[in-house]
Amino acid sequence: MKQLGLAIDLKRCIGCKTCIVACRNFHELVNPSEAVPNQMPYYLHVESRWHGAYPSPALESWVVPCQHCPDPLCVPACPEGAIKKDPQTGIVRIDAELCNGCNAVPGQCGSEKTKSAPCAARCPAHMNVESYVRLAGNGRFKEALRVMKEDNPFPAICGRVCDHPCETECKRKDIDEAVAINFVKRHIADQDLKAETRYVPPIKAQRKEKVAVIGSGPAGLTAAYYLAREGYPVTVFEKASKPGGMLTLGIPAYRLPRDVIEAEIQVIRDMGVTIKTGVEVGKGTTVERLRKNGYKAFFFGIGTQKCKTLDVPGENLTGIYPALDYLRKVNLGEKAPLGKKVAVIGGGNAAIDGARCARRLGSPGTFILYRRSLKEMPARPEELEELEQEGIPIQTLTQPVRFIGEKGKVKAIDCVKMVLKGKDASGRRRPEPVPGSEFTIQVDGVIMALGQETDWACLTPDCACKLGDLGAMAVNPVTLQSDDADIFAGGDAVRGSSSVIEAIADGKQAAMSIDRYLKGEDLYAGRKTEWVPVENVQKEKYSPARRAVMPRLDPEKRLTGFAEVQLGLGEEQAQTEGQRCLGCSSACVQACPYGVIQFDGVKAKSHKCDLCVERVQFGEIPVCAATCLTDAIQFGELDLLRQKIAARGGEIVEALSRESILYVK
Ligand SMILES: Cc1cc2nc3c(=O)[nH]c(=O)nc-3n(C[C@H](O)[C@H](O)[C@H](O)COP(=O)(O)OP(=O)(O)OC[C@H]3O[C@@H](n4cnc5c(N)ncnc54)[C@H](O)[C@@H]3O)c2cc1C
Repeated sequence: MKQLGLAIDLKRCIGCKTCIVACRNFHELVNPSEAVPNQMPYYLHVESRWHGAYPSPALESWVVPCQHCPDPLCVPACPEGAIKKDPQTGIVRIDAELCNGCNAVPGQCGSEKTKSAPCAARCPAHMNVESYVRLAGNGRFKEALRVMKEDNPFPAICGRVCDHPCETECKRKDIDEAVAINFVKRHIADQDLKAETRYVPPIKAQRKEKVAVIGSGPAGLTAAYYLAREGYPVTVFEKASKPGGMLTLGIPAYRLPRDVIEAEIQVIRDMGVTIKTGVEVGKGTTVERLRKNGYKAFFFGIGTQKCKTLDVPGENLTGIYPALDYLRKVNLGEKAPLGKKVAVIGGGNAAIDGARCARRLGSPGTFILYRRSLKEMPARPEELEELEQEGIPIQTLTQPVRFIGEKGKVKAIDCVKMVLKGKDASGRRRPEPVPGSEFTIQVDGVIMALGQETDWACLTPDCACKLGDLGAMAVNPVTLQSDDADIFAGGDAVRGSSSVIEAIADGKQAAMSIDRYLKGEDLYAGRKTEWVPVENVQKEKYSPARRAVMPRLDPEKRLTGFAEVQLGLGEEQAQTEGQRCLGCSSACVQACPYGVIQFDGVKAKSHKCDLCVERVQFGEIPVCAATCLTDAIQFGELDLLRQKIAARGGEIVEALSRESILYVK
């Protein structure tokens, strides 16, 4: 394929705007007064991008014409198949007949289409949810997988354990129930489990700067994935014997089967990332030593590995396990005997998983003790539902005050009843002991799941990074850079115990920062920090349709092992569920990394620069180039343009040029 493009000579342009007017007239673009808010009604911003000042990296954040990317993201993102890249010319074009504006109704919600779908706006990783769900609705699962893996290297994992804030925001709730986004995601992403259908993203040109990632949880592995895509040699150092962090050593297999984790990590290995397990940074090797060995940047994704304690008498008795130690043993297939009656203390993920594991491993009398009420419990409703189905009771408003032992082993817990009053720093109601309400519970074992914190022993004195009040690494909230310019951090190590999708979002942002840091670019330029969600959607067009129900393993069968409980939707169910999506925003507008696709609120269609393909087909050149008074815009085959520029002694401004638009000085 010959790739056509433009070369714009910044020295020749006199800023007369003739090209812009010609472009607007030729394409009959709407008058600025009728334009959709926040959108410029023309495709070219040549003059406005640089006139009057020499190009600087700050210009990066300006709107640019379509880049006709070699591998455009808008193409797979379009649920209607309306966007195609011409194999002869490399021109990316939107077919106006096929584009349905993602279900926009003219005059009603056009301007909203330039905002983000509420699901994407709320997702910490800002996945293009609308695109992959609607692609699934059209049965285009392969393209949907590719779209998902632009924003998340672990869709099959997230499809099982994500706390899916996207569904909380789904506008479909205003009609009946939220789209089961996570169930659809899981169905699409399970293609990653087989080598034949797995999506391994392409790697850009190799770079030589070595990057070290410390910790192989979702934050670290995500950073590795995006850095590998940019061509960096990445080594992940992991202290445990297996990679995956809490995915592997915290979350049990009945929620997240091991082959799912292995398959998605294998993609990262296939991309050239080296994962070294059994290496604890801080012991044996240090950041300083790694610097001497040529590593130019570091990402710390070391999570929260230390369990908090209650600080009550008897906590060191045998038979009492910190939840993470217990879950680690279970997940590694080691023995962790507890006896028949087990108390699990806490109300978060680790407590629920600890209890469900104990129940499966021969402790029929497992129960949970929680000091607040069910309403305050951080565990997700679906987890509480499964807990109940498995016959594990929760004793709320109860706080242990002492562990009682016999021959060094726990045998009972002294507890006190609690009452909720006022609010604490987290905004939840504050539990206070009820005087005279003490009572004793007989137990054979205890799992303590009171939350986790980070162990920062790995940071040696030669690191300038600082820790915040809560013991997490202090980093810039946008760039995730620490006080040490070459050290970045994210995930639980920065946020405190959080979620898989937050860790993924951080890994992606940190990789972008590290890439810019290593290239000497501005870490802030053009980074989108505000996502404005669509508010009005076309509810009237949709008739009620029930949300898909996840088939689950029979509760009796669950307790005999660690088989996956949620069985997944079938293809037809996933497709039907995808069709429930209202298409709140435009999928292509969300997908384009350069923000060049515009939405015409009057015609209810997306549109963008197509290099005047109607003219090009007849041997003419795009109107901008044809009307330029100073010959500043050249059009042609990209390779020939490069040769021409070199022959004229021109220099391509790499910081501005992308894909198929070259800027020359
Ligand atoms: C039991 C449990 C269940 C959970 N369930 C869910 C859920 O259903 N949904 C959800 O969204 N979230 C869940 N979470 C939270 C989620 O797992 C975490 O928020 C997420 O894994 C954090 O990712 P991370 O990469 O920041 O850290 P981690 O996953 O903790 O990974 C950190 C890695 O760094 C390694 N490391 C630490 N120090 C060093 C060192 N010095 N050198 C080398 N390596 C080091 C650790 O061994 C670990 O592998 C759960 C957590 C637990 C404990």
